[in-house]
Amino acid sequence: MTTQKVKTLRTLETHTNYEKYQKTPKFPTCYICTAKPIKTYKGWKKIENEFPYDEVDTKNDMIVPLRHTIEDDLTEEELREFKEIKKDINDKYDMILENTHKQKSIPGHFHLHLLQIKEREI
Ligand SMILES: [Zn+2]
Repeated sequence: MTTQKVKTLRTLETHTNYEKYQKTPKFPTCYICTAKPIKTYKGWKKIENEFPYDEVDTKNDMIVPLRHTIEDDLTEEELREFKEIKKDINDKYDMILENTHKQKSIPGHFHLHLLQIKEREI
């Protein structure tokens, strides 16, 4: 058996499930576009990440524009609203995380991960 290295914040089990999901016919449609919102704003929605970064987090949601768009094409209004949403986010999560382009599996739809980090005993 050959081994390979992978950079992931997911547990290996979740990572393997995510890789399986990416190979299903369902994947080509944008998961972010079709995901049911936990909360809807005027131009944004908050959705649950079905494949969380569960090696490090206990909760992983995502904040995404309602439109299928990259960050550079966000409108002034969307950017303004995002700043307001961020205030709401800051109270509920420990971290806002954005993957670099090479790590993004859905580069065509801007998304930021909202994480509650696992507590550890020291
Ligand atoms: Zn999309």
